Amino acid sequence: MSRTTALSAATAGAALEATSIELRDLRDDDIVIDIAFAGICHSDIHQVREEWGTAIFPMVPGHEIAGVVSEVGNGVTRYKVGDRVGVGCMVDSCGECEYCKDGQEQFCTKGAVMTYNGKGYDGEETKGGYSQQVVVSERFAVRIPDALELDVAAPLLCAGITTFNPLKRWGAGPGTKVAVVGLGGLGHLGVKFAAALGAEVTVLSQTTSKEADSLKFGAVAHHATKDPETFEKLRGSFDLILNTVSANLPFDDYLSLLKPNGAMVNVGAPSDPSTFAAFSLIGGSKALAGSNIGGIPQTQEMLDFAAEHGIAAEIEKIGADKVNEAYDRVVNSDVRYRFVIDTATIGA
Ligand code: NAP
Ligand code: ZN
Repeated sequence: MSRTTALSAATAGAALEATSIELRDLRDDDIVIDIAFAGICHSDIHQVREEWGTAIFPMVPGHEIAGVVSEVGNGVTRYKVGDRVGVGCMVDSCGECEYCKDGQEQFCTKGAVMTYNGKGYDGEETKGGYSQQVVVSERFAVRIPDALELDVAAPLLCAGITTFNPLKRWGAGPGTKVAVVGLGGLGHLGVKFAAALGAEVTVLSQTTSKEADSLKFGAVAHHATKDPETFEKLRGSFDLILNTVSANLPFDDYLSLLKPNGAMVNVGAPSDPSTFAAFSLIGGSKALAGSNIGGIPQTQEMLDFAAEHGIAAEIEKIGADKVNEAYDRVVNSDVRYRFVIDTATIGA
């Protein structure tokens, strides 16, 4: 068993501190990844602060992992030492159920094993990407195209796939009008992907402070949701609303912005229950839906699409000593647009 250095929270809400962790012995299908960069997803904060229910501590968060393969198990066929790879939110699934066979491992009937705050099928607790190394089955690694630098690719492993998946599924493309709510880590990638897919994109942000960035990322318009007139002006405008907000929203107001037959898809995951009036859906035969990350084949498709269309995350690269401060800034919507940890600084 070898060891590596990682950032760990000892208890719920505790500060992240450098610590030494064990790495499992290599199984036949395992690769060792020397992690270069790890993105900070708002989901990391929800879990470290135990906002989604009981979590496992000590916790090493991180499911936006980009690095280089440094060792391979005896049976590994897909990767070799030196390959550039990423790992997202999952590290194992049964591989046999209808969803695994269909490349939707996130719906594995046995339960997908999450990258951290989870338990492997062997009962061992999983540890995430705020770490210098990780051991993972080659089945849950994806190839990072050469056109993408590792630092700006890392956030694609969660924020990228979580927005790409519903945009594809709900038909964002030429002739559709898409609104992205919340211009944070997920939202800014949602704007870039929706625009690259050919949709006409509008950003709905709390204020106008990020307007210039919205337009730079490919949106044609940006509106402040704190201004009640926005909801009057935009009534009945959109085919699809992608909600990436980490807090609860007044759903009825947002549903009124959909055209008849339109859909509002939620990826933002606040802990409190949301409410809406049935008539907000019935009047225009509208849909209110959710979307959960994406499977491994689609994650590879998303990375290849990103490389082809020049899509990368806008990042603020930080050292390990700035992670706790970064958490507060994310919660205050003060990130442009994803913090990425340079893992070489952990414990340095
Ligand atoms: P983030 O970077 O903090 O972005 C969230 C954005 O929402 C903020 O930048 C802000 O945008 C807006 N916002 C924040 N608080 C708000 C409030 N009280 N009212 C209105 N708008 C508010 O977070 P993220 O990393 O993108 O994650 C967003 C959410 O998605 C989190 O809840 C996360 O857990 C969840 N998530 C879900 C999945 C999934 O599979 N479904 C995967 C990953 C993450 P503006 O400044 O533009 O208003
Ligand atoms: Zn995430």
